[in-house]
Amino acid sequence: MKRKPVRYSNCENCGGKVVEKRLTVDHRFHEGLFEFENVPVGVCRECSERVYKGPVLERLERLAQSKSKCKRTIQVRVIEFENRHRES
Ligand SMILES: [Zn+2]
Repeated sequence: MKRKPVRYSNCENCGGKVVEKRLTVDHRFHEGLFEFENVPVGVCRECSERVYKGPVLERLERLAQSKSKCKRTIQVRVIEFENRHRES
């Protein structure tokens, strides 16, 4: 199946050219953290800023809700870099 090439406007950050790449994307939804493989994402050639298309984000959210699409579950380790409460 051929997909229509998606056009990205120039980078908002530096004005560089944005090209589409297939990347692994981490995204957090209400139920937790998800990792999506092979996601079409616009990446700035100059500063590597990522640009997500609205429909792509909507699709990620829909995929996150459908448990049958889940390939595997990985463990995520949550570690606090610094104790924030010490500041005061
Ligand atoms: Zn840029």
